[in-house]
Amino acid sequence: MRNKGVLLVVSGPSGVGKSTVIHKLMDRRGNMEFSVSATTRAPRPGEVDGKDYYFVTRERFMEMVEHGDLLEHAEFVGNCYGTPRAPVEAKLAEGICVVLDIEVQGAEQVKAKMPQALTVFLAPPSLEVLERRLRGRGTESEETILSRLERARQELPLAERYDHTVINDDADRAALELGDILSRWENKEEEK
Ligand code: ADP
Ligand code: 5GP
Repeated sequence: MRNKGVLLVVSGPSGVGKSTVIHKLMDRRGNMEFSVSATTRAPRPGEVDGKDYYFVTRERFMEMVEHGDLLEHAEFVGNCYGTPRAPVEAKLAEGICVVLDIEVQGAEQVKAKMPQALTVFLAPPSLEVLERRLRGRGTESEETILSRLERARQELPLAERYDHTVINDDADRAALELGDILSRWENKEEEK
């Protein structure tokens, strides 16, 4: 019997809908925990420290890196982001599925360290749709939007390195597909 939770890594370009789809999946399934990342980015209106992110100074972030407190970390468009290791390991050991919403460099680090992790690339139907979503969210400056779109062009070809790709056309449909992929992975792990 499986006694460890599955580590689900959801990656893909900024604005594709990772956060939206993950929340829909978590609403539908129990026994799942969202991994709260540390970041040096400033909070957006409405974001809560300890729930959306741990908002930290660059100095504190570097301390976490040096102490080996992060499972993975990366710089993304001028800010640092990283996954606190201890809560992930504790939840997995309890048999709880942990979900990471991280960019592509971090996803590669996790897969290299933990090959049993399930990696899913969430892709937009097109770059035009991605741009519309990023702008529609209304959280970034024009300069940041352009940097994130430039980054997206580099990230999209990396989809083939993932265990699965899901196209986020409709968020409910994408969440269902992600849930099916996760269930199949869990069943496969149980059979091992
Ligand atoms: P990410 O976490 O990947 O940066 P978000 O979840 O914040 O992206 O989504 C970016 C924007 O796109 C949000 O305004 C969200 O409401 C919207 N969105 C997400 N998924 C869809 C979808 N399938 N169709 C239309 N809009 C979507
Ligand atoms: P945002 O600033 O829009 O919240 O996040 C920007 C990007 O950083 C997103 O693609 C998000 O998935 C990614 N990200 C969030 N947390 C982490 C993390 O802990 N590690 C890595 N590598 N990327 C992260």
